[in-house]
Amino acid sequence: MLEVKSVTKKFGGVIANQDVSFTIEENQIVGLIGPNGAGKSTLFNMISSIFPPTTGEIFFLGTRIDQMPAFKVAPLGISRTFQNLQVFKNMTLIENVMVGQHIQTKTSILGAALLLPSSRKEEKVMYEEAMKYLQFVGLDSLYNHKAGSLALGKLRLLELARALATKPKLLLLDEIAAGLNHKETQEMSELIKKVRDTGVTVFVVEHDMDLVMSICDKIIVLDQGMKIAEGTPKEIQTNEAVITAYLGT
Ligand code: ADP
Ligand code: MG
Repeated sequence: MLEVKSVTKKFGGVIANQDVSFTIEENQIVGLIGPNGAGKSTLFNMISSIFPPTTGEIFFLGTRIDQMPAFKVAPLGISRTFQNLQVFKNMTLIENVMVGQHIQTKTSILGAALLLPSSRKEEKVMYEEAMKYLQFVGLDSLYNHKAGSLALGKLRLLELARALATKPKLLLLDEIAAGLNHKETQEMSELIKKVRDTGVTVFVVEHDMDLVMSICDKIIVLDQGMKIAEGTPKEIQTNEAVITAYLGT
């Protein structure tokens, strides 16, 4: 589904990713881990075409995407959440989800943000569909509340609902469980598995090792921009290079 080929990203003198290669198979949950500054978010930014690699190539379902603008990549079926929340706090929950739907149908960011449905009928269909995504993450009873009134755990669920509303084939989750308590983290794990069971491939950056080890089919490990290991949770837990990178010895 996704092929990252020899990708390098430089920011001036900083090498954020160096010669990173891997593939992601359809219908899996794949984890991306590594110490702070390892280049995880940078890799996500390139896969979602926020900026291009310095060198290397990225293919999604056979199409080369690394030189495409983000608004053309999203409709191909790649959606994401951000490490720093990107919800619209003055909008209601359902309006936030509808922004996601507009990104999918209109490919116009301006149209999406202004919520301009082309007809009443279209608006009604989208409203009902948006409710289904809120239901999926368990926020439907709060649909009419302002996003700004939600606590962090629920904001992260809202981000997930909005990302799902773009109907992705590949969903990138950048630290979706950061700051969540133990119970919320467990619920998020279950939800991520439920997303995968609906046929969506999930690529997660996550610091919570229990979460990563329990839900991932495969884990890719970055350290200082380089891929140092790739394998099943079991293989990664016993990998010498990974242990060294994490313990800093
Ligand atoms: P991670 O998500 O693994 O913590 P990042 O991908 O955010 O790591 O960062 C990797 C490196 O690239 C860091 O040294 C960071 O400072 C640098 N970096 C990331 N984004 C930018 C940017 N837009 N401009 C300059 N440097 C950046
Ligand atoms: Mg990051």
